[in-house]
Amino acid sequence: MSEKIQGNIALEGISVGKIIKVEQSLKQYLASYTAGNSDEELAKLEEGIDTLSAEIDASVEAMREAGHDEEADIMEAHSFLLMDPLFTDAANDKTKEMGNAPAAVLAAANETAEVLANMDDEYMHERSQDIRDVGKRLARVIMGVKGIEIGKEPVILCGHEVEPSVIANVPDDKLAGVIMGQGSTTCHAVIIAKSRAITTIVGLEEKIKDIPDGVTALLDGNAGLVIVDPTPIELKEYEAKLEAQREEMQRFEQIRDLPAETTDGAKVQLTANIGLPKDAETAAKYGNQGVGLFRSEFLFMGRDKIPSEELQYENYKKAIIACKGELCVIRTMDIGGDKPLPYLNIPPEDNPFLGYRAIRICLERPEIFMPQLRAILRAGVYGKAAIMMPMIISVEEVKKARSMFERAMQELEAEGKEYAKDVQLGIMVETPAAAVMTPILAKYVDFFSIGTNDLVQYTLAVDRINPQVSGLYNHFHPAVLQLIQRTIKAGCDNGKWVGMCGEMASDPYAAVLLMAMGISELSMSAPSIPRVKEKIRSVSLKEAKEHLAKVMELETGAEVRDYLQANL
Ligand code: PEP
Ligand code: MG
Repeated sequence: MSEKIQGNIALEGISVGKIIKVEQSLKQYLASYTAGNSDEELAKLEEGIDTLSAEIDASVEAMREAGHDEEADIMEAHSFLLMDPLFTDAANDKTKEMGNAPAAVLAAANETAEVLANMDDEYMHERSQDIRDVGKRLARVIMGVKGIEIGKEPVILCGHEVEPSVIANVPDDKLAGVIMGQGSTTCHAVIIAKSRAITTIVGLEEKIKDIPDGVTALLDGNAGLVIVDPTPIELKEYEAKLEAQREEMQRFEQIRDLPAETTDGAKVQLTANIGLPKDAETAAKYGNQGVGLFRSEFLFMGRDKIPSEELQYENYKKAIIACKGELCVIRTMDIGGDKPLPYLNIPPEDNPFLGYRAIRICLERPEIFMPQLRAILRAGVYGKAAIMMPMIISVEEVKKARSMFERAMQELEAEGKEYAKDVQLGIMVETPAAAVMTPILAKYVDFFSIGTNDLVQYTLAVDRINPQVSGLYNHFHPAVLQLIQRTIKAGCDNGKWVGMCGEMASDPYAAVLLMAMGISELSMSAPSIPRVKEKIRSVSLKEAKEHLAKVMELETGAEVRDYLQANL
């Protein structure tokens, strides 16, 4: 009898493979390790660090050659962590204390990780996994344990936390999936799996322990389901789904370079959401036409001070160049809410999503906002750039931001620095206030981009990250649809383009409705682009408008979803 375990979707897809428990093997080796005397253990530690460092350097090089730049960057960061005296000193002290180098290394890594995990900062929290990863790798090297054994069969890596280095070191054709007990979808392991389009299921919690090593498992990433030891009938059923998935990939490949165009010739621009400039390069695989949302706050996280204008300039330049002449929309720092930044010293808030965040901070703190505006304006000369401001609620904010934007240009002019004079200035429409005000706001901006992740949260008063109310979170709720329609109309009436960069843009059904409303751009995580494009290419604008008219008469979000699923 098979066993079904429910987790959460981190990356969709169907796959079959052999479970490899990545944590268990380390424990077994540790139990049978015989330690030498104190000097011998210290020598093993030192040797281990040198060996691992050389190993990492070699794999970084190999990854770069294979075009896996994102993984190479993460591994490079591991190399720095390995050499960090904070870690090496702790490992030395613990080795002297415990007389067992691998156990000491694990303890030192865990201790450092605990400190980071308690920092109440999601980014630091997730970096704590990187330190644990380095510790485990080093312990393995010291004990002479080879990397995981991969046979002919593709594997599914399974653990409470699967280390990024373990994922990075399994070749593409041998990695069927990743399943984890922990629930984050933004940790490095998931980022790596996503960049390689590997089916990933997270949040299995304690149930991860029930999965035995070496069994076959089926991952239904579309449903967040792990089927352990599937029956022949289940395997057969999934074989059909796998086949459909293969066919889908082939279809997607064929339309990659075709326009996102309805059967009667209406076009929409499909762009990518990115967190790092590199993502703009990877997005090309999926046929994006530029970037609709560069979440610049990632540049501000994981460091101890505001990134300099120069560092920002280099990063924006890279993303703009990767857009190859298409527009690159860079969002100004969207800190606050679920993305705190310790060095800004913002006092704890009862309602961080309604608190001191994003543009509210930027407008009050020119030392943060001005270098960012200047950096984008300067990088703009390498292509086509736009600046987008998050969390806008009023005309005053837009006017103030525009005057700072103009001041940045005047400063650059006076300093004789090169900058782009055609950088557009737009806003995210992600608060109900902004959506209602769009007929007026349209006079002060070059474009609107609808941020449905927050717009849905604020319109429905449903916390976007609270699983208990996730059933109420629906982008087809009629209140949300009306605000979106109003925004698109206000843009069109005033000759301003309107896009969408919230998750709703990656829903193919929503894409059809949005086109009928007159949207000109849809920005999403790059792997979602082909599915949306395929749907758009299957309908006419005329049909889409007929569906829209019917949908706008419906009374609930569930009715809208059902209607679209039945009719599109
Ligand atoms: C949004 O709110 O829809 C959005 C795109 O921004 P974020 O998810 O970063 O808040
Ligand atoms: Mg938002």
